[in-house]
Amino acid sequence: MSFFDANTWDGKIYSGRWQPANGGSIPIVEPATSGVLGRSGLADATDVAEAAVAAANAQRDWAGTSFEERAAVLRRAGTLVEQHAAELRDWVIRETGAVPGMADFAVGVAAQECYEAAALAHRPQGEILQTNQPRLSLLRRVPVGVVGVISPFNVPLILSIRSVAPAVALGNAVVLKPDPRTPVSGGFALARIFAEAGLPEGVLHVVPGGAEAGEALVAHPLIRVISFTGATSTGRKVAELAARHLKRVHLELGGNSALIVLADADIDKAVSAGAWGSFLHQGQICMTAGRHLVHSAVYDSYVSALAEHASHLPVGDPFTAPVALGPLIDSSQRDKVHTLVTDTVGAGARLAAGGTFDDLFYRPTVLAEVRPDMAAYAQEVFGPVAPVVPFTDLEEAASLARGSAYGLSLSILTGDAMRGLALAEQIPSGIVHINDQTVNDEAVAPFGGVLDSGTGARFGGAGNLDAFTEQRWVTLRGTIPAYPF
Ligand code: NAD
Repeated sequence: MSFFDANTWDGKIYSGRWQPANGGSIPIVEPATSGVLGRSGLADATDVAEAAVAAANAQRDWAGTSFEERAAVLRRAGTLVEQHAAELRDWVIRETGAVPGMADFAVGVAAQECYEAAALAHRPQGEILQTNQPRLSLLRRVPVGVVGVISPFNVPLILSIRSVAPAVALGNAVVLKPDPRTPVSGGFALARIFAEAGLPEGVLHVVPGGAEAGEALVAHPLIRVISFTGATSTGRKVAELAARHLKRVHLELGGNSALIVLADADIDKAVSAGAWGSFLHQGQICMTAGRHLVHSAVYDSYVSALAEHASHLPVGDPFTAPVALGPLIDSSQRDKVHTLVTDTVGAGARLAAGGTFDDLFYRPTVLAEVRPDMAAYAQEVFGPVAPVVPFTDLEEAASLARGSAYGLSLSILTGDAMRGLALAEQIPSGIVHINDQTVNDEAVAPFGGVLDSGTGARFGGAGNLDAFTEQRWVTLRGTIPAYPF
């Protein structure tokens, strides 16, 4: 039997055990083949409520364990991710349509997230504060209780574990709601790993489901913090609902990141970086380069080289063929991508490459002579599409880059790194890469966006400590003081 046995996953994970979900079950479909990989439960509000209660009960004991015990569970989880990397990688490839390199990267980051979280358990629990009184005054960090994690379909392994691992390490319990299209790499596999690593029953629950389960999680009174990753439109709903329940939310939302190519950049390398930034994982990454801004002196050569590059990239089933791009997740996502491309061409853009599809396999697409008001430039496409817009000076580049509601990642490619940094200072963005493309992730680095991309950078040790603990003021005196009355 395999470590991640799909045949047993026809439900939810409640207190470490498999149970049927109240919303029934749905097939887990492999986007590349339309084949069925297994089944997933579909949780409803009742499933979420049961999990929240069980999690709150289990959390008290878990928070009482020593930091060494919690760190050891996280270290074992990291080791188990590495030991079962091959099987986990296959699930990522088949469930999400990722190419093997992308899946390997996701598995590597997942292990690192566990190791970083193990180190988080060792951190000091607070600070000794100044005080004018004869007493000890302490800032003490305490777990928030139960954390609700909601993750999307695109890179579910990383986007679930990057919240689950630190939350658990800091003494919280977690109710995790993965997207029901990707419940294995987004949830069940994590539950299997953490159970094997020795996490006590009840500390982690997995309730795959849709909007109903998500809203139930946000509204449930026992769930004190929500870590949400997904679309900006959904994030707004989550934030509104959370506000009604006076609940803290961390939002990692959409993007439409600019990749700026200055005239002094090495154009061959810029084209390769631009192609990677736009086409990796079929453009289904929040940090995908959604807007290429290119100096007019090199615009024509950049566009033709990028189109040439795109036209040679192989697209197909990443599980069986050595391809650069796999399938989009489903037909509704493909139709959305194609509508944005055809609308943009209809508005006068030139299709320099791609723009066609076969089933869920969308050709890498380059759009030239694009204006900022055109659909594929103005909106997050979440597909393998590179709209390219020219600029004439740095001021115009900054103004174009700023002209987006999003602020997640920014790339500037130039022969003069300091000039790139000065340009970056003028553009709001949670992440900046000078001389690299927009898609990067490391467990030790803060990650997050500003503006419509979310509530700012959170990950990395210090960010997670703030996200998954409350600060308590504690004072101690040797004797009770005498009061005037
Ligand atoms: P989505 O918002 O549709 O779904 C994300 C999750 O929210 C899923 O689990 C879904 O079931 C759940 N959900 C749906 N409606 C809900 C509701 N009303 N209340 C609570 N939960 C609800 O996102 P998607 O289209 O599946 O994912 C792609 C989006 O996610 C893109 O916009 C992408 O940029 C963004 N994303 C952001 C990051 C980041 O770190 N900033 C990372 C990956 C993806």
